[in-house]
Amino acid sequence: MNNHAHGAAYTIAENASLRTRNSFGVEARAALLVEVRRAEALAELMAFARFRTQAPLVLGAGSNILFTRDWPGVVLSLDTRGIEVLDDDGARLQLRVAAGERWHDFVLWSLAKGCRGLENLALIPGTVGAAPIQNIGAYGVEVAEFIVAVEAWDRDTGRLVTLTAAQCAFGYRDSLFKREVERWIVVAVRLALPRQRVLRTDYAGVGEELAAMGVRDPSAAQVAEAVMRLRTRKLPDPAVLGNAGSFFKNPLLATDAARALCARHPGLPCWPDHHGLAKLSAAWLVEQAGGKGLREGDAAVSQQHALVLVNHGNASGAQLWALAERVRAAVQARFGVVLEPEPRIV
Ligand code: NAP
Repeated sequence: MNNHAHGAAYTIAENASLRTRNSFGVEARAALLVEVRRAEALAELMAFARFRTQAPLVLGAGSNILFTRDWPGVVLSLDTRGIEVLDDDGARLQLRVAAGERWHDFVLWSLAKGCRGLENLALIPGTVGAAPIQNIGAYGVEVAEFIVAVEAWDRDTGRLVTLTAAQCAFGYRDSLFKREVERWIVVAVRLALPRQRVLRTDYAGVGEELAAMGVRDPSAAQVAEAVMRLRTRKLPDPAVLGNAGSFFKNPLLATDAARALCARHPGLPCWPDHHGLAKLSAAWLVEQAGGKGLREGDAAVSQQHALVLVNHGNASGAQLWALAERVRAAVQARFGVVLEPEPRIV
């Protein structure tokens, strides 16, 4: 393997293994792996013909991607760091955070600064740069609520641009960046975090966890602690068992269609007012279709959580994807609902 160092701005490796760079732990190789330490290097890199003619695959922490094959082009890993306070008026902190910062570390940093808002998003794997791409969310909070702007390299125009939150067109686990995945490289995220805000503890067991902790009037840090306990208990640790968190998104249906489906299937959890549509429980659909605990070789659907696909050791990405397709087909045959994967499938 060749490894050329160009100052400290970036490094390039040929035919690089990505196995330790994806949380499924599947083997895949990148023809070229470019690690960027300083965002300014992008202008130079993007001028190379190889970057102009073929979109690089941008990899954050690799916690939301499934490689089913090698990547014949450039994989770009943004390892830029830095949290910059742009303004602090006492009521809220305006921040600029580099794409390569670890999301969970940033959440803890914000709590230590006395900010509120990100406590429900504790322990989500991945980088800050990846957060706006799928508008990460958990326990009733989405990162889009706090995003002011996103700085991104636009491959179409060959320029670094700052997009307002409205331009990012955030949706449920969705954004402009996810819809135009080949066009954008997120370089930094600007957020505004309040010091005062009503904590959200009414969602998916958070209140119960706080009660179990003996906490009545929680601080933001205690809500984060409850979320961390819940996640640690319910979700397999990728360091132990390869996975990428929830593999399927909760499907959003027109309200009438959802109502008809729920009438036919009593017990199907449905939240009628979600981004203007009705949200159904993907976990319930998978479980009822017989998907939970399904295993083919080392590829399996977690016994603990019907939405989580796991690699018991040596599953290939193609095997995991085949299992996911089987689960999807079973759900579609039984309920007529097509589940969409949440991670990026390569
Ligand atoms: P769970 O209790 O087994 O399932 C919670 C599910 O029910 C989630 O899909 C959630 O939707 C939905 N839900 C619960 N209370 C709701 C309410 N009051 N209104 C609307 N929807 C409600 O817990 P879980 O599966 O471990 O998930 C807990 C939270 O962490 C969820 O928000 C989930 O999205 C998030 N999470 C995300 C990932 C990921 O990889 N992206 C992985 C694990 C957990 P939502 O998903 O829309 O919130």
